[in-house]
Amino acid sequence: MALLQISEPGQSPDPHQRRIAVGIDLGTTHSLVAAVRNGVAECLPDEQGRHILPSVVRYLPPGSAGAGRQIGFDALAAQVSDPANTFSSIKRLMGRKRADVVQVDQLPYTVLDRPGMATVVSVAGEKTPVEVSAEILATLRFRAEDTFDDDLFGAVITVPAYFDDAQRQATKDAAKLAGIHVLRLINEPTAAAIAYGLDHASEGVFAVYDLGGGTFDISILRLTRGVFEVVSTGGDSALGGDDYDRALLTWVLTQTGQTELMNTATPADRAVLLHTARQVKEALSACQDEKQTVAFDAMLSSGEVHFDVNPSNFADATAPLTARTMVAVRKALRDAGLTKADVQGVVLVGGSTRMPVVQRAVADYFAQAPLTNLNPDEVVALGAAIQANQLAGNNPDGDLLLLDVIPLSLGIETMGGLVERIVPRNSTIPTALAQDFTTYKDGQTALALHVVQGERDLVADCRSLARFELRGIPPMAAGAARIRVTFTIDADGLLSVSAKEQGTGIEARIDVKPSYGLSDEQIARMLQDSFTTAQADMQARAVVEARVDADRMIEATLSALRADADLLSAEEQADIARLMDTARQVASTSQVAADIEAATQALAKGTEPFAALRMNRGISRALAGTRIDAI
Ligand code: ADP
Ligand code: MG
Repeated sequence: MALLQISEPGQSPDPHQRRIAVGIDLGTTHSLVAAVRNGVAECLPDEQGRHILPSVVRYLPPGSAGAGRQIGFDALAAQVSDPANTFSSIKRLMGRKRADVVQVDQLPYTVLDRPGMATVVSVAGEKTPVEVSAEILATLRFRAEDTFDDDLFGAVITVPAYFDDAQRQATKDAAKLAGIHVLRLINEPTAAAIAYGLDHASEGVFAVYDLGGGTFDISILRLTRGVFEVVSTGGDSALGGDDYDRALLTWVLTQTGQTELMNTATPADRAVLLHTARQVKEALSACQDEKQTVAFDAMLSSGEVHFDVNPSNFADATAPLTARTMVAVRKALRDAGLTKADVQGVVLVGGSTRMPVVQRAVADYFAQAPLTNLNPDEVVALGAAIQANQLAGNNPDGDLLLLDVIPLSLGIETMGGLVERIVPRNSTIPTALAQDFTTYKDGQTALALHVVQGERDLVADCRSLARFELRGIPPMAAGAARIRVTFTIDADGLLSVSAKEQGTGIEARIDVKPSYGLSDEQIARMLQDSFTTAQADMQARAVVEARVDADRMIEATLSALRADADLLSAEEQADIARLMDTARQVASTSQVAADIEAATQALAKGTEPFAALRMNRGISRALAGTRIDAI
């Protein structure tokens, strides 16, 4: 549920009963689970004391011993020997079609094109990325339940800020499959900022630089009164620690005169080489001295490769990669309309930010030391845990951070039962958006406003949220009044709608609780409906619009006749009456927009001479009221 859920009065959770709520960082390379214990967020270790769970699942042939799959470190260890059945970086496929996945051909397993979402092929059959992710999530859920010896109440799961709705939905589905109640999905950079307590500042702009295993994300956040807004995001979905491994490997093979191995190594040897490169890279991060070397041997089926690297070799080999991240940083700032001087703090996230070359580049660019005192692998999970603890109601004194997006569009009903969308789905809150409307009839003094929620074009297919009226509009010709309707959604997800007549300033407003009572299933179904029915909606919308136009034309003609019928002969009046009858008849019975439009056109054409006569009369009247010397 993307908006704050409010308990019924008297049904709020018993403050003494703690609910087990965790934060989960479902990463491309690693996943973690964290919880607030004794007021402090901490990552939960596995039985061997390890916090990190490699986001890797290996499926075994049917009939093999055990659960038929390995998850985490066991699966990672098997990646070299069984690459085709060992699924890493599955996050890149979540909610995506095969064609949308960057460098899909470089994945060591088979990815199939399937409607909706790509799938992967294993000895145990075809699997969706949702199922694979669910294995990882379930492992973390069991870890939490074992730790607390209690059932899990719910989890906050983090997703990249740029994840679209399909990717977010896929993440939720994976959680559901793993038996986890999702309290909320939050953006990874926001979670990192919360972990650093940046939300306790009152205002400010922060940059979150996240260099993980396979992806680089830069997010610019703005904090206003405790609420984070993602102002811009950028990065590169095919740039991460793995590329540093490859760059280092290329450098070593060039040094040792073995560049042919880049093409000739077997998949297993290639995996060994990359694994060694990664070990060397990580060991280099701990080097204090630029000249200290790290030496490793990679044993291949065809011989061996000797790695002998010092930090300055590594810096040279990978400088272009670090430079690419900084290009994305500059672009994200530009997109946000900000400069680096506006940035109050920089948060480093992701295991790859342990590399001194990266830390130096970031510090140089922003001319300030980035925040690094939390473990960069853990900071996202820690922030999610803090948020989960608050959402579960365990910290009633804590500020509730609402840094979310609205799940369904909000709009108002316009003539003919159509929806005019004012706040599109996925807008971040808080937000305020306005649109101008006008009256439909001459002399109309009141306006009925109907606030609806949903993605469909027809009011009947959306959810009605509230109705209210604006009264006291001075009588004017149809279309002359300017009524500004403003939708304001505050940080609590509370919607208020106001309508103000611009000329007189008269105003009416109503407060609404938008998605109160809508379950995730209902939201999913409403979204699904809007996709499958888009075509039908468009036709229905066209018919309704044509009807409104016809009615408006008839209304205008009637109003003209009331004023100036004396300009027409009885015969001309009868002709116009006939055209109006036809238009009225077609508009009320036809389901074909083109037919209704044709009838409206005929009426418009038939009244053209009348309009010309009226215009002449209007001019002579205007002249009659003017003194001759003023012309
Ligand atoms: P993701 O968010 O993609 O799951 P992580 O944040 O866990 O990824 O980062 C994984 C990456 O961090 C890997 O490429 C790994 O090699 C790298 N990494 C971890 N520790 C270090 C280190 N000490 N020095 C350099 N890179 C590291
Ligand atoms: Mg990450």
